[in-house]
Amino acid sequence: MTLNNLQFQSKYLSLDSEFYNITQMEPLEEPYLISFNPYAAKLIDLDANTVDNPKFIELLNGTYIPKGVKPFSMCYAGHQFSHYASRLGDGRAHNLGSINGWHLQTKGSGETLYSRTADGRAALPSSIREYLMSEAMHHIGIPTTRALGIIGSKTKLLRNNIETAAIVMRMSPSWVRFGTFEYFSYFKEYDKLKSLTDYVITESYPHLEKEEDRYFKFFTEVLERTASLIAAWQGIGFCHGVMNTDNMSITGLTIDYGPYAMLDDFDYGFVCNATDKAGRYAYGEQPNISYWNLTKLSKALTPIIDKERMQKKLDDYGAFIYPNAYINVMRKKLGLVLTLEEDKQLITNLVGALQDAYVDYTLFFRTLSRYDGERMPLFELAMNPIPFDSWLNLYDARLKKETLSQQKRQDMMLKTNPKYILKNYMLEKAIFLARQGNFTMVETLLHIATHPFDELPEFKHFAGDTPEEYKNLTLSCSS
Ligand code: AMP
Ligand code: MG
Repeated sequence: MTLNNLQFQSKYLSLDSEFYNITQMEPLEEPYLISFNPYAAKLIDLDANTVDNPKFIELLNGTYIPKGVKPFSMCYAGHQFSHYASRLGDGRAHNLGSINGWHLQTKGSGETLYSRTADGRAALPSSIREYLMSEAMHHIGIPTTRALGIIGSKTKLLRNNIETAAIVMRMSPSWVRFGTFEYFSYFKEYDKLKSLTDYVITESYPHLEKEEDRYFKFFTEVLERTASLIAAWQGIGFCHGVMNTDNMSITGLTIDYGPYAMLDDFDYGFVCNATDKAGRYAYGEQPNISYWNLTKLSKALTPIIDKERMQKKLDDYGAFIYPNAYINVMRKKLGLVLTLEEDKQLITNLVGALQDAYVDYTLFFRTLSRYDGERMPLFELAMNPIPFDSWLNLYDARLKKETLSQQKRQDMMLKTNPKYILKNYMLEKAIFLARQGNFTMVETLLHIATHPFDELPEFKHFAGDTPEEYKNLTLSCSS
């Protein structure tokens, strides 16, 4: 399909007009293409040679509006760092509609009804970060929004420095957030809360549509999807940085990439968001925060779902829904196929050992993926390898109970534990070059992001330990 025959649908516009605002995009000055993502293009059957079509830049910049498209921004509320904000919404995003179930949205495309005091723009660095990381997460196997392309421009913005403005075209099966439910619930617009729930069930949980008890089942499935998502984050070492309820997807996707980070050295207390002085969104806190956010969702849903039943489910979330999701993720990382009671202890001990060892989290698991009883390759990774010794005794004993051959275990682990992740220092380099108009490293990182489990010998310098001075870089919310 070419850009001229893309067919957009806009079912969201059939909801009450309070749900959205139809609004113009504000084009950037002298826009240019930074990157086009052929993997995302496939999802909407868009030809790969669109990369060469100048109209693609115009699509992202809002100077080419396909026939029938009425750009709109969505309203939502949300708890930000535990405080309720009753009116947020897409302050800098415009939705064009959906293709093949993917809702296309430009981020950084100008002020909307929901911009409050901000400028409606997105700076080049955070845009490159979102573009690359959403793709990396997908290829590792973590539920996420995607990104079709990114443009830069001459438009200047005031952030921590003077930056130039960019626009990312994002894609998602849904942009509805926990905060969308909060918006209608806190304003006591319960009929709209109900129509939102019906809309989300039809779009994202269609198997529940005909169920008698569908609202409660919907809540249960949101819990389950959230548990899987957060367990996947913990497993891979992803720190979101701004787990506000407006950044929690109702369909269990990773959304709104801000000052995120992948762990370098494992550290349960690592806080990637420099603005988060209290460490509310520290890596090790993410599961607790997901519970907290779900309690806020349950509060919003109280007008339509029995409170006690939701509370019981929330108790289950803390007691076993999340812990089981996490243990299953870790079992897979460890190459364990059997489900044994003792695995919980094995994993708890591993987390303790990693915390004490000062070891690159990704490199540890990639090296463990080739484990054959020889401990030295693992010891050599850590500043303090001593905790690994007793943990490996447990692991050896546990492996003896498995029926899988060593070869099969290693094959499985090498497809679970990536060789390549996008670390902040790599992204910083790509951004440094992009500021000078050189986008080659954006393309290199896109390649790495889309082949995380491959050996890629030409890029092996990106698979090693993070250079000491670049470890645990933090970023501010300013974007
Ligand atoms: P975030 O923390 O990036 O998810 O943003 C929180 C809220 O602030 C959302 O409603 C965003 O749309 C809005 N926002 C963030 N940056 C801007 C900006 N530059 N202009 C307008 N709205 C913004
Ligand atoms: Mg957000």
